[in-house]
Amino acid sequence: MEGITRKHWNLLISFTSVTVIVLLLAVCICTGALAPASTSSAGDSSDISFRTSHNDTRASARRLVARASVDDDEKTVPKHRLPKSVIPRKYSLTIVPILDAGFEDVLGRQWEAPGHVVVDVVAAKVTKTIILHAKNITIHNVTITHNSEEISVRNISLHERFSFMKIHLNQHLTPGDPYTINITFTSYVSEVLNGLFRSSYINQETEEQEWFAATHMEALHARQMFPCFDEPNLKAAIEAKVGRREDYVALFNTESTGNETMQDVDGWVWETFAPTVPMSTYLTALIVAKFQYSEAPGKLLPETRVRTYAPPHYIKQGAAVYPTQAAERILSTYGDYFKEKYPMKKFDCVAVPAFLYGAMENYGLSIFRETLLLHFNHSTESQRYIVTNVIAHELGHQWFGNLVSPEWWTNLWLSEGLTKFLEYIGLNATIPEFQPWDIFISESLQLGLRLDSDSRTSHSLKIDEDAWLMKNEMEWFDDIAYKKGGSLIRMVQGFLSEPVMRKGLSRYLSRMKYKAAVQDDLFADCDKEGQLAHKLPDNTTMKEVMSGWTLQAGFPLLKVSLQGASNVTVTQEKYLTSGGAGNEKKVKWFIPVSVATTRFPNFDPEPEFWMRDNETTVSIRLPANSWIILNAGNTGFYRVLYDDELTNRITNQLMEFPERIHKYSRAQLMDDYFNSAWNRYISVKTALNLTRYMKDHAETEQVVWTSLLAMLKTAFRLFKESEEEFTPLQVCKYFYKYFLQTSHLLSFLSFQNSFKNNHLNLLSVQKYMLPRIEKAIQATGGYDAVNINSTGMPVLRHAQLLDWACNLNSRGCIQHALELVKSWKNTGQLTIPRDFRTVIFSTAVASDSSGEMFEFFKEQYKNGESVGGLKDQILTALSNTQDPGRIKSLLSEITKQDLFRDRSEGLVLLQHLGTNAKAADLILQYFINNFTTIINHFGEGTPIVAAANAMAPHVKSLSGLFLIDQLVQVNSDFLKAPLGPAISRIRANVVWFDDFGESMLEFFEQNE
Ligand SMILES: [Zn+2]
Repeated sequence: MEGITRKHWNLLISFTSVTVIVLLLAVCICTGALAPASTSSAGDSSDISFRTSHNDTRASARRLVARASVDDDEKTVPKHRLPKSVIPRKYSLTIVPILDAGFEDVLGRQWEAPGHVVVDVVAAKVTKTIILHAKNITIHNVTITHNSEEISVRNISLHERFSFMKIHLNQHLTPGDPYTINITFTSYVSEVLNGLFRSSYINQETEEQEWFAATHMEALHARQMFPCFDEPNLKAAIEAKVGRREDYVALFNTESTGNETMQDVDGWVWETFAPTVPMSTYLTALIVAKFQYSEAPGKLLPETRVRTYAPPHYIKQGAAVYPTQAAERILSTYGDYFKEKYPMKKFDCVAVPAFLYGAMENYGLSIFRETLLLHFNHSTESQRYIVTNVIAHELGHQWFGNLVSPEWWTNLWLSEGLTKFLEYIGLNATIPEFQPWDIFISESLQLGLRLDSDSRTSHSLKIDEDAWLMKNEMEWFDDIAYKKGGSLIRMVQGFLSEPVMRKGLSRYLSRMKYKAAVQDDLFADCDKEGQLAHKLPDNTTMKEVMSGWTLQAGFPLLKVSLQGASNVTVTQEKYLTSGGAGNEKKVKWFIPVSVATTRFPNFDPEPEFWMRDNETTVSIRLPANSWIILNAGNTGFYRVLYDDELTNRITNQLMEFPERIHKYSRAQLMDDYFNSAWNRYISVKTALNLTRYMKDHAETEQVVWTSLLAMLKTAFRLFKESEEEFTPLQVCKYFYKYFLQTSHLLSFLSFQNSFKNNHLNLLSVQKYMLPRIEKAIQATGGYDAVNINSTGMPVLRHAQLLDWACNLNSRGCIQHALELVKSWKNTGQLTIPRDFRTVIFSTAVASDSSGEMFEFFKEQYKNGESVGGLKDQILTALSNTQDPGRIKSLLSEITKQDLFRDRSEGLVLLQHLGTNAKAADLILQYFINNFTTIINHFGEGTPIVAAANAMAPHVKSLSGLFLIDQLVQVNSDFLKAPLGPAISRIRANVVWFDDFGESMLEFFEQNE
């Protein structure tokens, strides 16, 4: 699954979010707050309702069903798991999602989904109770048969917390014997976007609202559509018969095998679908909609029909052509890679306007949020990357997750982590021009390391069963499962080698297909191949190597020190955000260590030595005066820090000939050193020293720039904020209120004194950074190197460099931006590359004091069509004006209907303005003066909170805190809680800047 609701991954690290080119790298599901908390105590009302129904089995259903607590006979049942005394083999599901009123007498009420399921099962133990799942379903009738003879049902009881439906029988089932469960039920086409749900879109021809039904079952929602054994390890074939209106299409996991007119219901048909391969219930999918499709040519994958379904207007615009072709190529790539073909006859991608997550990998019928699947003529290259990325992810799951499923959700990473890795194999085959493995470094490895070193986000990859129960099941679909999981697989590839790991994964898929796995299954298959190829340390299994990485949270830090002239010691300890303080340092790992040196600058990830999980220190020989890089190739999931002498040698090599150190290791140096500076292992000057080489030797690698700029983003946007002076009394007052730490107060008072002239501070930053960024721009073809037809990584690299150059007031960049916009203004031809428009437009507005550009864009905004995000790019540009009068004029428009016809446009403007350092005081003053008007216009406090949250990351001054505080005081009850996070963020900025600002400034002044 892919989630993007909360998390946005920046592929490009932009200077400020005013000009950000945010890539929603929909790589994973988000953590937290995505799904409503589902835990309820056993005393809550029942999940299964037994409502009055038109069905004449109502009376028998009432007789049959009695509410009861957990059955005494089932004391051996694990608390939240099915007992596996009965194993499902096949489901035959009949269901009619009713999307219209007017069929009450013949089918049911609108939003009901009457159905029937026949489950073929085999008894595995002697039992008198069959337990399966059902939630929010009305059960009408249940019968059990054995060789066509009915077995008497005593009653049905419900276990509410875990949605168990228990069928109590009057006789024992015999192990090994087949039985059939027949259940007649009504489920519901829910408003909430899980289980079987409804959603709508506006038909662009008729302008009418069109409803459709779709599904999202992961992790525990299949039980809301039909009673089933809803655990990933209980796989069974599912065949379906779906009732639909003639003018709709129905889609299921498998291909349709035909349809027939529904007896007695005019205009309705039954559509029948082939049985699936054995699969987990959470992968079931159903769509009933008036969608159309685009179909792949079928040359790459003749046995599988690949289509993309979407609302008709998108198909007419051709927006489904690209995703369909990408899907066909990626499915074919994965099948060839593992020599394990996709097993079904069709694969459909479906675009829906609203989806709780980014996308879901249902077997044969993956469902995507439309913005993450469709590709338009006006899409940017960043958007093309995102779309391909999401497709590669969902298709990867057809192998990891669908063909081999995790035994239970505590082994979730076997689905999400393996797929995260596989995704890049798909991307590399489809869009190599983006250099996807370079993107993996910043998007997965570096982010994974950051989250895994923070005790608030870190946990063991294999989830502890008790811990799993403590949280909502969706919260475990987090970046640890995806990014640490994917990065560990890349580490395995590093020490086993690509061909050996591929054999190991193929063996795992072949042995475990149509089954469910635990992580030891994966390790066993990789172990077989690893031992055969002698890729593992002596007398060590894959499981022994991987246990430390998967069963404990966090990762190691290797500290490398020179002892004498030619001896180097390497020690391991747990890497902590607290800079190594804490008693968890004793934890150890089995670490593959690849090595590069001056004489052997070999950045192959094959390990030179292993540091065992019972070792704290190892010694290695190093030629005199040589530099040494550990984790060469940057495949290991750990950080490395060198002592002063060894760091100097690396710095000198960079100053002399940086390419001798591989780009991935240069990226790792940036990531390890800056993170370690923020975590107080080393000084920030030591980290900054590693960037000096970029002045004389152009750094042209996107992966290095992205790693570095991600680390400097916070610092530089805080440098940009103008600082107002406060009297010592005011400073004391605010420190007393927000910090309560005298040490911070004292250092801040002296610190503020040294920071009086913020303008000069920013000049120092510019003087240091600009020559390095401009050198990279020149070395990659200059400002004009990328045009509207350019593709791939060069576009992303240039967009990022231009953004920083313009934001640091590079004259060349500003000149370039003004020329491009003037050319558009004069010729009427907009030929600026789409990925650059935000930064070019914003720069043109910010650097033009005459107001000519501002007025031009205002006119464009008023008259322009909102095509391809152009309108939002222009709005971002307007909000970047540096002129207080124009900022005020924009603010005054927010509650009028002239410029911003839609209320949401005013809200977006406020968010953009919030990131403009020049606008902060004006916005807050505007809120204080116009509080009632704003609340009357927007109906709530959202705009104020949204603007404050957008502003907070850029504010380090007490003035920001002071103004937000004033706002809280004006309307204390209303805003105190919602503005809390913004206040905390500013408070953290003040402390952060207090700790690092002065050192950074000193460095910039001393090293131009
Ligand atoms: Zn996924």
